[in-house]
Amino acid sequence: MTIVIHNAAIATVDDRDTVQYGAAIAITADRIATIGPSAEVLARHPTAERIDGTGKLVMPGFANLHTHLTMTLARGVFEDLSPPHRPPFSGGLSPIPLPDMTPDERSAMAELGALEALRCGTTLVLEDGNDLGEYAPALAATGLRFMLAERAHDRTGASIGDPAPFQLDRALGQQHLRLIEDTYDKWNGRAGGRIRVAVSAWAPDMCSPELLADLAALRRRLDTWATIHCNQIWGEVAAVKAHRNRLPTEYLADVGFLNDRLICAHCRCMEPAEEKLLGEARAIVSFNSAIAARRGLSPRIDDLERHGCTIVMGSDNMAEDMVEVLRTGLFMERVRRADGRQPSPEQALRWATRNGYRALGLPDGGWLAPGNKADLILIDLERAHLVPVLRAVSTFVHQAQGRDVEAVMVDGRWLMKDGKVLSMDEPAVLARAKTAANAAWARLFGSRRDLTVPAGFTPDALP
Ligand SMILES: [Zn+2]
Repeated sequence: MTIVIHNAAIATVDDRDTVQYGAAIAITADRIATIGPSAEVLARHPTAERIDGTGKLVMPGFANLHTHLTMTLARGVFEDLSPPHRPPFSGGLSPIPLPDMTPDERSAMAELGALEALRCGTTLVLEDGNDLGEYAPALAATGLRFMLAERAHDRTGASIGDPAPFQLDRALGQQHLRLIEDTYDKWNGRAGGRIRVAVSAWAPDMCSPELLADLAALRRRLDTWATIHCNQIWGEVAAVKAHRNRLPTEYLADVGFLNDRLICAHCRCMEPAEEKLLGEARAIVSFNSAIAARRGLSPRIDDLERHGCTIVMGSDNMAEDMVEVLRTGLFMERVRRADGRQPSPEQALRWATRNGYRALGLPDGGWLAPGNKADLILIDLERAHLVPVLRAVSTFVHQAQGRDVEAVMVDGRWLMKDGKVLSMDEPAVLARAKTAANAAWARLFGSRRDLTVPAGFTPDALP
C-alpha cells in the first residue's frame, strides 16, 4: 500500500536544506518511496491513497534526545525552583523533592509525556530514568520510536550537585548494572525494532570511577549507546572537584567514558578545555534549551559544534514540546553570540531532527529522501501566524507552535491524523495523569510537613 501526500511544501533537511513547493511525497510500507513535483509522483503511483497536502508543510519528525517523561509530574513547580548557581550548593534539582510514584502513577505520567511529545511532532525519544520496564509497555503502545536509557549510580546520601563527601554504595551500582541488562534483554529490539535500550550514568558526581568503567564495558558488550547528565549545574562541578580534584568532563575522559556513542546532556557549566575534550571524542551534546533558559544557564553550542561534537536537542523536564525547544535554542544561541543571523533556522532544525537520528545510529531517519524511514509530520500552514509561507523552514522555526502539528507518521503508520491522536485514548490519558499527580503530591505534602507548599499551588493536590 502506498500513500501520496501531494501539492504540499516539503522541508527535506537534506544536505542542501532543500524545500520543495507544490510537491508530493510517496510512502510505501515503512519507507519513503519518492519525493518530487506532484504530477510526476502521482503518475508514478497511480493506485496510491491520495492525501491533499494543500496548505500543509511536510517535514521530518523531531528527535528528543534527553527527557524524563514521568517528570511531567513536576510541571508548574520545578521550573521555578532551580538549584543555586554559586555556593552554598544544596544538592538536588529542587528544594522540593519529586514525589514518589507507584508504578501505575509513573505509567500515567509517562503516557502524558508521550502524548504531548506526539502532539508536538516528536517521533524519536531518548527516555532517561529508573525501572523503565515499568512503563515500557505503555510507551510501546504509543507507536513512537524510543531509546530507553536505564540509569545507574552508586552514591548514597546525596543528590546531584552536592559537594559533600562521596558515600559509595557499590552494591547499589551493581544492582543498577543488572537492571540495565535486564531491561536490555526484555526490551531491546521490541515493538518492531522501535524500542532500543541504552546505558545511562546519572551524573559525574553520582558515579564512582569503578561504576563508570563497568558501565562503559557493559555499553560495549551490548553494542549500544550511553548517556549522562554532564556539567549540568555548578553544584555538580563543585562536587566533582571536591571528590576527584578535576572537572566533570576531565573525570569522564580519565575513566574512558567519552566516545561518539555518548549523549552528554546539558554541557552548560563547562570550561573551554572540557569542550575541546568532548569534541575530540566526537561526543554527542544534547542542547536542552528550554530547561536551560528556565535555569538561567546556557551551553556554548557554537564552540562545542566547532570542536567536533554532534549537536542534538532535548526537552528534559516537565515539557515535551520540541517546537518550543527548537525555537528557544535558536533564540538563546543568538542572544549568547550577540548575532542576529546565526544559528540559522535550517541549522537549528537539523539539530532537532536529522542529527538526533544520526546520533542514535539511524542515518536514514530525521530527514526526507527516497529510501529513508517514513517518520514525518504534517504542519497546518493555514494559520494567522504562519501565512504567508515564503521561506518554509524559517517560518516554521520562528513562528510555529506545537499545536500546528496536524499529523504524525512513524514507520509509515499514522499515529495522529487530521489533529486526532490514533494510538492513544487522549481523554483517558489526561484523566489518569491528573488523578495520579494529585495523589502523588498529596502524599508528599502529607508526609513532609517541613516542606513549603509553593505559592499558587492547587488544593486538589494537597492532603
Ligand atoms: Zn535530565
